[in-house]
Amino acid sequence: MPKRRLLQFEPLGDRMRARLEPDFELCPLFAEGDRAGFLAREGASFEVAITGGHIGVPAEVAAALPNLKVISSFGVGYDGIDAAGMAARGVIVTHTPDVLNDEVADTAILLWLAVTRRLIPADRWARSGAWAEKGMFPLTPTAERRRVGILGLGRIGQTIAERAKAFNATILYHTRTPKDVDYEYRGSAVALAQDSDVLFVITPGGAGTRKLVSAEVIDALGPEGILVNIARGSVVDEAALVAALQAGRLGGAGLDVFENEPVIPDALKTMENVVLAPHIGSASVETRQAMADLTCDNLTQWAKDGTVLTPVPECRHLAER
Ligand code: NDP
Repeated sequence: MPKRRLLQFEPLGDRMRARLEPDFELCPLFAEGDRAGFLAREGASFEVAITGGHIGVPAEVAAALPNLKVISSFGVGYDGIDAAGMAARGVIVTHTPDVLNDEVADTAILLWLAVTRRLIPADRWARSGAWAEKGMFPLTPTAERRRVGILGLGRIGQTIAERAKAFNATILYHTRTPKDVDYEYRGSAVALAQDSDVLFVITPGGAGTRKLVSAEVIDALGPEGILVNIARGSVVDEAALVAALQAGRLGGAGLDVFENEPVIPDALKTMENVVLAPHIGSASVETRQAMADLTCDNLTQWAKDGTVLTPVPECRHLAER
């Protein structure tokens, strides 16, 4: 039997290629000069696609794949894929939940501590000779015994909360539906920000959370407050964030994600109270390997019996045949 053709939206590492090649013929869409022409000619031959959370599956490409049955997406966030639309077409979408919880939570804590204890300016102080010339680095606020707000208490949000407890924090959270946890619930993002010293943003991206962290939320966090966005750039009103930081209405920010990646507003790059990271939440060797394995496992399982391991919630009913 000929191998099934697998439409690839981005390059794959050697490990993923080795895992997939026995079952699939890899067809790199990203290498096609004339993608529309390629899809018009060959789109109907694809039942299987592999993509990444950043790229997703653009609507015009999805429309050119009439026989699509499964999409395996590398990453837990799948806001680049119309999962409900795919489910309505009978297409199963999979993602990589849980295997990255620890890493992303670690990155969130890293950003929080770096902003609070001013690690980047302190590093500069040490390297530049300022320590010898000017004396001790100025004192910073403590990260201990803070009110830690978590906007989005899902798999990663709960993992951040576990870590924050080690800093003797009081944990508060907001989600659309209260969870069965001991943490304090707040009924809105504004109410949460109002009562928090640091606000971790860790909801999904997409239309449902667009600019959830509005100017009002940022102002509620206030001039001593710190915002850590490890979710998606779309969740925070970036222009409002820049304006609040410039005006001193927000204490600081740790940002792993941006509205228009890889473009970062120039104003943020000059601010001493902001720590910037280029979307590295899950980006350790070990965690990316675990994500790669799960991305492949979903496809090899599907090739075997038509089921998958980790469908997105919208597609669960399709995967449990
Ligand atoms: P989960 O689905 O487990 O958790 C999402 C949480 O967000 C739930 O508690 C949900 O609760 C809440 N939520 C959803 N919509 C809203 C809303 N409108 N207002 C308030 N709360 C909301 O997801 P994960 O924890 O696994 O991942 C979360 C996101 O983190 C991913 O979707 C991805 O975008 C991002 N991420 C970023 C990474 C990075 O590299 N920076 C790496 C990995 C993930 P409820 O439904 O009750 O509202």
